[in-house]
Amino acid sequence: VSDGRLVVVSNRVAAPSASGASGAAGSGAGGLAVALQAALKARGGIWFGWSGKVSQDSNAPVQERTHGSVTYALSDLSRRDLDEYYHGFANRALWPICHYRLDLAKPSAPDSAGYFRVNEFFARRLARMIRPNDVIWVHDYHFIPMAAFLRQLGCANRIGFFLHIPWPSPDVARALPAYDRILRAMSAYDVVGFQTEGDAENFRNCLVQAKAGRAGGDVWREAYGRRFQVDAFPISIDAEAFAEEARVAEKNVLVKRMRASLEGRPLIIGVDRLDYSKGIRQRIEAFASFLEQSPLAAKSRVTMLQVTPKSRSEVPEYAKIQREVAEQVGIVNGKLGDVDWTPLRYINKVMSQSALAGLYRIARVGLVTPLRDGMNLVAKEYVAAQTPDDPGVLVLSQFAGAAQELHSALIVNPYDIEATGAAIARASSMPLAERKERWGAMMDVLRANSIDNWTARFLQALGGDAELADSAQ
Ligand code: UDP
Repeated sequence: VSDGRLVVVSNRVAAPSASGASGAAGSGAGGLAVALQAALKARGGIWFGWSGKVSQDSNAPVQERTHGSVTYALSDLSRRDLDEYYHGFANRALWPICHYRLDLAKPSAPDSAGYFRVNEFFARRLARMIRPNDVIWVHDYHFIPMAAFLRQLGCANRIGFFLHIPWPSPDVARALPAYDRILRAMSAYDVVGFQTEGDAENFRNCLVQAKAGRAGGDVWREAYGRRFQVDAFPISIDAEAFAEEARVAEKNVLVKRMRASLEGRPLIIGVDRLDYSKGIRQRIEAFASFLEQSPLAAKSRVTMLQVTPKSRSEVPEYAKIQREVAEQVGIVNGKLGDVDWTPLRYINKVMSQSALAGLYRIARVGLVTPLRDGMNLVAKEYVAAQTPDDPGVLVLSQFAGAAQELHSALIVNPYDIEATGAAIARASSMPLAERKERWGAMMDVLRANSIDNWTARFLQALGGDAELADSAQ
């Protein structure tokens, strides 16, 4: 493995606060932020990205802050850059198309231009900071062309890319604006990582269909004059730490309030950003179908808690789904509720990981039913949070990346409302022995592939070890 520093590039940076408080790196931070911090601390390096701030002066200098061996380098964006690159191209073209929603894609020429312009702007700023031995790890759909621009600037470092969202099959991917340019840009990396083998295979097929690439070994591809690795690196959580968090969270005030308010009624939980990819509307319909069809549900007055922080509200497609879900919740509660029973509790607040861990733990059923999702960490968190001697049941969409690993969940087709409703009924009345068996099998999977494994595997590939091993064969 290269002895150079690690340089992480992502749209949002989990930088500690200016006061030096641990901020996002401390308790409450997402597993990914914690894992990347640990990797950065271990070898020293830079975490580079957008500051989260809009600046009038598009040439405001990079803000650098060093904590120990890690430097956080943040760059502001102008309003126009942010609108075109982030709200526009990333979230109205790449996101919907990668989630198979061609109907919601709103490509525009200014947004495409803005996306490449901002990537070049960031690449120029980053190029000044890197040293020849550094390895660079670029994250997610905001920065696909980062390596291509760095290469133009003469950067010969090892550069890896990990896509956190799905990569669609060629017939869908071809709908991406600037598709050829994007394929070419992805080929400027040394390692291109996806959440599942299916995503990696889709990307390989895109290269083949574009007549751009040929296989050069199992995971190796040669395209546009470069040789690089295309592989699946399924992201995960620290299951042991999350289980501990859930155990402790039984004492969390919010969790206690929730439990008291249930008065012994069973709880079903859903947790998602308010996003059309999450299948929230279909899930609410499935829950209503379960209430209407299962005598047990109505008798036990099951409660479903849907925790749904608002997301990307500036994007019109998100404003629309926000209105639709709110209306639908009202309709279901109006139709099926009673003077002393609100079947669906719908909350638009962001909850702490600790509160979520405790809520997962007291829920008999976890509903994770996206129409398409790169991985879905909520599914893994729900499993990790369960009580070993009385675990709840995960109902999981076949279209979540997590379904490739969590085979012992009740796997559903989220478009099939009645079948999903029936799966909720089955989960709600599953005998203890079966629950334990399914949960144990899923925990084994989570323990075998923790978030630290994920970081280590990707960095090993990026360090070039795999290539040496491969060419030695
Ligand atoms: N999450 C949170 N508070 C909330 C809702 C979600 O901390 O109110 C966390 C959740 O625990 C999970 C992450 O946000 O770690 C969501 O990740 P996931 O892969 O499920 O979906 P994404 O939002 O990345 O599409």
